[in-house]
Amino acid sequence: MAGRNSLFIPGPTNMPERIRLAMDVNTEDHRALSAPDFMVPLFEDLKKIFRTEKGEVIVFPSSGTGGWEAAITNTLSPGDKVLTARFGQFSSLWIDSCRALGIEVEDIDVPWGEGAPVTQIAERLAADTQHEIKGVVVCHNETATGVTSDVKGVREALDACNHPALLYVDGISSIGAIEFEMDAWGVDLAVAGSQKGFMLPTGLGIVGVSQKALQAGETALCPRFYFDFKMMINQTRTGFGPYTPAMGLLRGLRASVDVLLEEGMGNVWQRHHRLAEGVRQAVAAWGLSTCAKTPAWQSDTVTGVMVPEHIDGQEIVKRAYQDYNLSLGGGLTQVAGKLFRIGHLGDLNECMLFSALGGAEMVMRDLGMDIEPGKGVGAAIEYWHKNK
Ligand code: PLP
Repeated sequence: MAGRNSLFIPGPTNMPERIRLAMDVNTEDHRALSAPDFMVPLFEDLKKIFRTEKGEVIVFPSSGTGGWEAAITNTLSPGDKVLTARFGQFSSLWIDSCRALGIEVEDIDVPWGEGAPVTQIAERLAADTQHEIKGVVVCHNETATGVTSDVKGVREALDACNHPALLYVDGISSIGAIEFEMDAWGVDLAVAGSQKGFMLPTGLGIVGVSQKALQAGETALCPRFYFDFKMMINQTRTGFGPYTPAMGLLRGLRASVDVLLEEGMGNVWQRHHRLAEGVRQAVAAWGLSTCAKTPAWQSDTVTGVMVPEHIDGQEIVKRAYQDYNLSLGGGLTQVAGKLFRIGHLGDLNECMLFSALGGAEMVMRDLGMDIEPGKGVGAAIEYWHKNK
């Protein structure tokens, strides 16, 4: 197919040339005496992305799912109970993985398009006077629906009743892109993956761990070996890990951390908000709605665009790829066919986003939808023009 693929899936994301080139390195001796000179500052700087000074950041050679398996098995024992809410594919997968690992899950069912129900969580925690709940699990950014949850609100709910449960946050499609404050929000386990905000290929599960979570590891009985925090913390502190590190990806991670810190986390979050708002203006101009039910839930990294009942969202995704070399995200499980998703995170700017918005318009017109040419693109232009 002629021309470049326009990549607007919500991860893996577009990779800046600087990051791609940083990974083009020859094989390295990961046990060389100089290895700590590279490793130790990298792990220190990673903390600035997670916004933690008190915690540690551990990097596993895995996808994000490995990172969350590590978060669970390093801090809980079989039979322990966690409280969580189910409002999309990824929040549901957390529940499945906890259960598969022998953890009891109390889950609150929430309509897809909403996020973590802070009031209900607060009520359940307040009623748990015996502190049977050992962890509260929040999917910060539900990539399947384009919904962002209020992690700070969940921390406040824990604090309001002095509940000692650990706070687990899936930040796989939020960390490095939208506001995330590990220390200020009292997050104990913060899980990220390399292929979203970090703009790298898939292959690193990056986990922020509070001192309280490390302490919990002393008594946690879930079996673990490859994903053991204690073994990996040595890599964080000394530069030498328990097994062969993915050096190429770590070289890329160094460049990624540099790119993010040079822009400044506040600016990164602001850019994502501004770009996302342009996309939302386009969706409104098309006469469509977002899967996120109210503006408060709308994610700045991915937008789920609901399609009319007679249109198959999956067909939009298929035609976009087939006819225009444009990659959009499809609907998953409960919302399969009901929406398509535009990922807008990572290395992105307005002009890149025009290809997603313009391409989506063309496909919707091809499918017979009543979309005036340029309507969505025009609305985004107007918003970005007025909000420089
Ligand atoms: N959680 C969220 C919110 C995600 O978006 C994803 C992947 O898209 C995952 C978890 C799973 O991560 P991975 O595919 O890196 O294992």
